[in-house]
Amino acid sequence: MSARKTAKPARGSRRVFSFGDGKADGDAKMKEMLGGKGANLAEMTRIGLPVPAGFTISTVVCAEYQAAGDRIPNALMPEVAKALVKVERVMAARFGDASLPLLLSVRSGARVSMPGMMDTVLNLGLNDRTVEGLARLADTRFAYDSYRRFIQMYGDVVLDVPRDRFEHRLEAQKANRRVHLDTELDADDWRELVREYLRIVEEETGKPFPQDPQQQLWGAIGAVFRSWKTPRAITYRKMNAIPDEWGTAVNVQAMVFGNMGDDCATGVAFTRDPATGSNVFYGEYLKNAQGEDVVAGTRTPQPINKESRSADQAHLPTLEEEMPKAYKQLARIRHTLESHYCEMQDIEFTIQAGKLWMLQTRTGKRTVRAAVKIAVDMVRERLISREVAVGRVDAGQLDQLLHPTLDPDAPKKVIAKGLPASPGGACGAVVFSAEDAETKAKAHEKVVLVRIETSPEDIHGMYAAEGILTARGGMTSHAAVVARGMGKCCVVGCGTLQISYARGEFRVGDTLVRAGDVITIDGSTGEVILGEVATVTPELSGEFGELMKWADSMRRLEVRTNADTPHDAKVARDFGAEGIGLCRTEHMFFEEARILAVREMILATDEIQRGRALEKLLPMQRGDFVGIFQAMAGLPVTIRLLDPPLHEFLPHEEDGIREVAEALGDDVAAVRARIEERSEFNPMLGHRGCRLGITFPDIYRMQVRAITEAACQVAESGVKVQPEIMIPLVAHVKELERLRALAEEEIAHVLAAHPGSRLKISIGTMIEVPRAALTADAIANFADFFSFGTNDMTQMAYALSRDDAGKFLPDYLETGILKDDPFVSIDRDGIGQLIRIGVERGRSTRPRLKVGICGEHGGDPKSVMFCDEVGLDYVSCSPFRVPVARLAAAQAAIHARQQKKAAARPVRKQARVAAKRATSTRGTRRTRS
Ligand code: PEP
Ligand code: MG
Repeated sequence: MSARKTAKPARGSRRVFSFGDGKADGDAKMKEMLGGKGANLAEMTRIGLPVPAGFTISTVVCAEYQAAGDRIPNALMPEVAKALVKVERVMAARFGDASLPLLLSVRSGARVSMPGMMDTVLNLGLNDRTVEGLARLADTRFAYDSYRRFIQMYGDVVLDVPRDRFEHRLEAQKANRRVHLDTELDADDWRELVREYLRIVEEETGKPFPQDPQQQLWGAIGAVFRSWKTPRAITYRKMNAIPDEWGTAVNVQAMVFGNMGDDCATGVAFTRDPATGSNVFYGEYLKNAQGEDVVAGTRTPQPINKESRSADQAHLPTLEEEMPKAYKQLARIRHTLESHYCEMQDIEFTIQAGKLWMLQTRTGKRTVRAAVKIAVDMVRERLISREVAVGRVDAGQLDQLLHPTLDPDAPKKVIAKGLPASPGGACGAVVFSAEDAETKAKAHEKVVLVRIETSPEDIHGMYAAEGILTARGGMTSHAAVVARGMGKCCVVGCGTLQISYARGEFRVGDTLVRAGDVITIDGSTGEVILGEVATVTPELSGEFGELMKWADSMRRLEVRTNADTPHDAKVARDFGAEGIGLCRTEHMFFEEARILAVREMILATDEIQRGRALEKLLPMQRGDFVGIFQAMAGLPVTIRLLDPPLHEFLPHEEDGIREVAEALGDDVAAVRARIEERSEFNPMLGHRGCRLGITFPDIYRMQVRAITEAACQVAESGVKVQPEIMIPLVAHVKELERLRALAEEEIAHVLAAHPGSRLKISIGTMIEVPRAALTADAIANFADFFSFGTNDMTQMAYALSRDDAGKFLPDYLETGILKDDPFVSIDRDGIGQLIRIGVERGRSTRPRLKVGICGEHGGDPKSVMFCDEVGLDYVSCSPFRVPVARLAAAQAAIHARQQKKAAARPVRKQARVAAKRATSTRGTRRTRS
């Protein structure tokens, strides 16, 4: 919606919507016009709840106000005057009348909640005369306390008087009277303070404080509209993707008082426990207080009932005990609201002289654990459908349920912040090498592995550590990808860390952390914390399983996993994976027992030497694949042939070089020279992926052979296997043509030795080089399947280094240049186009081509939505993200169905209109004839 469109309401359309006494002009569906708060006040009034009368000025006026250079549109005035008369009638009080004064609250309220970002004025309508009227109706102390609150709030919000001028004066009054609390000041104190506050306003603004209630009201309405444009509101909108043109509504409502005496109170409550989701009424209140006192935190609120009482609140009385009648009514309203909204509500209420008033209701925020329980319980209670329940849980937060997390109540000293690469919390002694991590873990010591960046050589240390912290790297850097695969907590790209391996320490600002010091890292926020923070292990509830079952019945996308070991494969299968979409074979090459043979293979000078090394590796690889096929019995397993540049496997230390030289029977200098030769300026675009298979076909032959032999062996033991061989980094169709022929030849060779075998092995390719996507029609001639490698594709097409982007991407996100990290959520506009092209062109050659994704995006809910939209067959992600992807895939399918229905609606409507017209035309003809 453009600002121009919202700037003028249609002629005759209303700008002001009244509510009160059981009647309302608006309702809950009108959030766009009335804002969330206004729409729900109207709705609560409609369903008969006790809401103080008031009116909402529509969001449309906000745009009008701004378009007119911050001026109230003339047309608004008579509408407000009319609405105000209604409020006076319902509340039996008069605005500005000294004998029966009506006081108002003026609050903002956007379509979505923007807590604390915009302005509010309370107790409006008080002046030197009405305060006396209020004093007669209530008591003098209360009246003058309300008046000074009003002057302070109005002075701050509308007249720009520095807030601390009032606060200093209040503190001085307390000091004079030798008291600590506001509640200890008496009526004379407040009267004196009011005089002082009025003087401060006049001094600051050069004018007396406005005594005319009408002037006060228009001043407050204008200030609320202006608060839409304060820097904090603008930043909040940017961070939460809230369009600037939405604008805020203004809610003007009769004041009710929770601070008139001991039969008054104010509080907030949730209709269910927002932490656990259990179906209990949960909330807190303050006796003799106004809403702002609850927020200010100067007094400790009391629980509303025993279910809301924490262990240390056993001595506190509850609302249920102190004001049983009002509590009973509130508890009834809780049920009314839930069955009306079919959703957990967060409410605000006030009790004035024993009478309950509802001031707000909105959808309650909750933990993911509570979200799952509430969604499933509400289906059981027949409040919502399964589809609604599945749509209500934030898939992105689901993996918080699967990892231990930091105790949110524990104190913590955050010393640095990096990228939250893999969720959960981890705590342990700092180690700086994989070797130390392994040794200490063997001695049952908990460690956090801290590295400038990790490489495949660190895998054993990453396994041993509780968590991993790196100074460099982005969300698809080695550390991030591997840690996620292991389900280990990881923070990467923490650029403020200055690590010295030589001294065994790191510094962040003035803080020095030595090897052995304990730190905690939070993989969900990226925080690095000094010392130990307790972790809590979440339990998977029965409701989680139930919700996932429903999700599975709704989704179209298959969900596979990226797993390289039988253990990871099993974890993923337990989480519901339906196959392996990516098994990175290079990870198997780093194990201690094999690295020597791998190095021999790479540094061999001729076929014979290489052949000897490959002979050693063959049985090891075969063993790996047997384990994986067994773990994934009956499910497809995509195994990718060797991908990374060979130099990554090479030794750099003297000992390692000597060891390889001995194994090869070569001299050390010659081996060192060959290592030099292998080094590349730009390894990510160098000798890797299928290029290795082209120059060293024997490596790929060995791998295909190991896969096929393993598959035969497992199949012969009676277990169903479905191997799929995947060729990485293909850019040109000829690469795939040649390597497919090589693989087919090797498969045929192995199968010839297993005459009874009916094994079918499909051969496909990764689409990760942009050129491959553009030439997908040609490539599809030689591929049984495609799998989009969106990590490399993002790197290459966006020209963003996977390992260096962590240094500058956070600035892009902070300044709003980018909304999402493109390594986390697929960049729909750019990379998304390549994917669409790849799918369309691939399927133009082979209509039934199976297409999936195995980049890290496969476990990101937004990207899963995109994958569903472009018609992929499956997504593949790290084991702990499998439930996330299952839920996200279901939500994507629900969304697609809704879109389809919405698109069909006008067509159906047109058809109905046409049919009606046809009937009436026929009718007319008949009459005429
Ligand atoms: C990719 O590039 O998206 C991919 C899955 O491969 P890797 O991360 O191993 O480069
Ligand atoms: Mg890749």
